[in-house]
Amino acid sequence: MRQKNPFPFSIDNKRYHTWNYYLLQRFKSKVAKIPLNAGFSCPNRDGTKGIGGCTFCSAAGSGEFAGKSSEDLLIQYQNGRKLMEHKWPGALTIPYFQAFTNTYGPLEKIQACLVPFLDRPEVVAIALATRADCLFEECLEYLCTCAEKKEIWIELGLQSIFDETARHIHRGHTYEEFKKTVLRLSTTPLKICVHLINGLPQETAEMMIESARTVGHLPIHAMKIHMLHLIQGTKMAEESFPLLTQEQYVDIVVRQLEVIPASIILQRLTGDGAPETLIGPQWIRKKTIVLNEIDKAMVARNTWQGKKDA
Ligand code: SF4
Repeated sequence: MRQKNPFPFSIDNKRYHTWNYYLLQRFKSKVAKIPLNAGFSCPNRDGTKGIGGCTFCSAAGSGEFAGKSSEDLLIQYQNGRKLMEHKWPGALTIPYFQAFTNTYGPLEKIQACLVPFLDRPEVVAIALATRADCLFEECLEYLCTCAEKKEIWIELGLQSIFDETARHIHRGHTYEEFKKTVLRLSTTPLKICVHLINGLPQETAEMMIESARTVGHLPIHAMKIHMLHLIQGTKMAEESFPLLTQEQYVDIVVRQLEVIPASIILQRLTGDGAPETLIGPQWIRKKTIVLNEIDKAMVARNTWQGKKDA
């Protein structure tokens, strides 16, 4: 007999708080994120914080599926929307400024990126990927005014709470700097999503679980967790270290979910990498299988998100 799902925030038998669940509850519709490339740079690449960027970061600034920065933003958006329409006709949208650091630039440039989307009826929210050391006060004030029209999501890359890992991957900021920004953001109407990577060099499963537990207890709204994608041409590709197997990854994610409070939305538990440049692990290309294995493991262990949340 099928086990009854004990997790309260679910309509599809998932045992964790999915992004889809949140969007359906909030907007009563399918909502699709449309990745965009607004042509920002990154202070960890241009010499302000570092040169060359985080050691795992691809030439595309971790925005493999965002458009070309040479293309007008609305054209990128319409192209992305057309693709989504095939999959989910009539879906509402979230323009997602994905590539590089999308608050690293003059206020006028940030304004010019958001303005085309603020009055579009099908746009329910706007998401900006950025770094914790790149949110200056004028920018925050502007984003708070935008939040009166649309939900604004700030996606902060962190990857790990451990400063020794941050140094090793050339992250260019500390956990304390990140935490200070989260606390500042939590006093605003902006929504906060934090990115973590499992499988970074020199990290143990216990460290990854501790990162999830600690971040999950900050005043944030959502997290994205994914496996490290080892990409050709990155500094990390020159290192020698073991990549997690799918079984190890699934086990770690289930244990992470157990210590994340049930209210935190999991925007992702897998990532998208460009297959042409992916060195490994190859199993991440089969996202549905990975997600199914996570679901199966949670049922087999009779566990759910927040079960061990202290
Ligand atoms: S902060 Fe983001 S864009 Fe900049 S180097 Fe790191 S991963 Fe790449």
